[in-house]
Amino acid sequence: MRTGPGELTFVWAALVLAGSFLLPAGATPARGADTIKASGGDILITPVRHGSVMIQYGGKVFHIDPWSQGDYSELPKADVILITDIHGDHMDPAMVEKLSKPSTLVLAPAAVAETVSQAQVIGNGEGKSMPGFKVEAVPMYNLARGPRPGALFHDKGRGNGYVLTLGDKRLYFSGDTACTPEMKALENIDVAFVCMNLPYTMTPEEAAGCVAAFRPRIVYPYHYRGSDLSKFQEGLAGQPGVEVRLREWY
Ligand code: ZN
Repeated sequence: MRTGPGELTFVWAALVLAGSFLLPAGATPARGADTIKASGGDILITPVRHGSVMIQYGGKVFHIDPWSQGDYSELPKADVILITDIHGDHMDPAMVEKLSKPSTLVLAPAAVAETVSQAQVIGNGEGKSMPGFKVEAVPMYNLARGPRPGALFHDKGRGNGYVLTLGDKRLYFSGDTACTPEMKALENIDVAFVCMNLPYTMTPEEAAGCVAAFRPRIVYPYHYRGSDLSKFQEGLAGQPGVEVRLREWY
């Protein structure tokens, strides 16, 4: 069949039109991701729910604290799963199973690995370097708050926060923690996910004070159910260079 110039123009226009719709949809997960430029490619950030986040970079999918209360119906399975602690909103064995492939690497503290037996144990202060990314486990714990006098919701050493290095960017996931000396001493964090909510972790004011101490370039309040985020924003209003990003986590 011979094709005239008019028909060629039509075919070309149709391809461009289709491309303009298809390309963004293909590059962006269902609920819309934030994009961070990094060496080696973009980092895509998808808030899922509460303390659950999905990160995509370099063809790999990272799920942090996947929890069945999040909507995972359109999200891809994990290459890497990071679990911070034993509480149900962080450790959900059924969800780990659902998001796993045979090759999925699960990293978790020892207390979690007692239940999630496929997890490789990583403890506070330990690191793991893999092709294309690096994971460091950092402490997360309460300083004072607990279920009764003399007890803490999160004992030091049991859970892990994580610093995930992707290209030239460092992402920090706080897990459930108070404003610890280790958190205040974090350096060179590009993107931080910082918890708050009472009684388990911090007030928004405490979280803002902690963020002001380690000064990430971007901070996402997460795990904040019931907290007044305007207090968090006010606490960081005098901190140029720290961008607060509010997203839909609930
Ligand atoms: Zn929690």
